[in-house]
Amino acid sequence: MADREFALVLHDIAPATWPDYRSFVEQIDGMGHIPMTWLVVPDFHHRSNTFEDAGMLRLLNQRMARGDELALHGFYHCDDAPPPRTPRDYFMRRLYTYEGEFYPIDHGEACQRLERGAELFRRQGWPLDGFVAPAWLLGDGARRALAHQGFVYTSDPNYLYRLPDYTPIKAPSLVWSARSRWRRGMSWLVNERARRRHRHEPLIRLGLHPVDMRHEISRRYWIDTVRRLLDEGYQPTTKISWLHRQSSASQGNIAAS
Ligand SMILES: [Zn+2]
Repeated sequence: MADREFALVLHDIAPATWPDYRSFVEQIDGMGHIPMTWLVVPDFHHRSNTFEDAGMLRLLNQRMARGDELALHGFYHCDDAPPPRTPRDYFMRRLYTYEGEFYPIDHGEACQRLERGAELFRRQGWPLDGFVAPAWLLGDGARRALAHQGFVYTSDPNYLYRLPDYTPIKAPSLVWSARSRWRRGMSWLVNERARRRHRHEPLIRLGLHPVDMRHEISRRYWIDTVRRLLDEGYQPTTKISWLHRQSSASQGNIAAS
């Protein structure tokens, strides 16, 4: 089978969530060199400031040095906008998620938060290529704002989108909904079916959340899945490294044709 790769993506990285992830990351590190993509939230829920936490900065610098990717994942990761006024907004912002920070905000506010986030990365000397909206939700204003902020890509559960024109590239994700027992039971089935269905895709993403680490069934699922993918010959990668190789491969094809 052609070269297949997987990207391990850790969502919601902040000082407040690191205790959930720590032993998991140690276990993955123990399985060999497996690069990861860390979705960093600058100020998680206004109470966990990644860039003012010396230990967190040290950790992320170490991860960068070993080849991991750091991407921007919202700014606060919570939706503080005035209450929803339409049924659709009510569904998206109260039933579907409370975390869609970049769904209700307008173009100006989105520009500001993206610029502030990018500036924090710049001050650390961290390259910044990816922006992933909390809960993968981009409102219209945020979508326009993101197009002209110099990012290389954004993503939702099914696609990576090359910016600035949002060119979609299929890259399905496995994701758990680990909040309740029945959802965890369902998630196992849904993800195993997705993994088999997508076995011919060149890239599969594993989208991990802190809550997954608090339940043995989901935590073990991720460890087992990484092991299984490695056994099946998948190569681990970061999202940006994979994307870079796609563009050089397509340029090579153009040159060859
Ligand atoms: Zn998130």
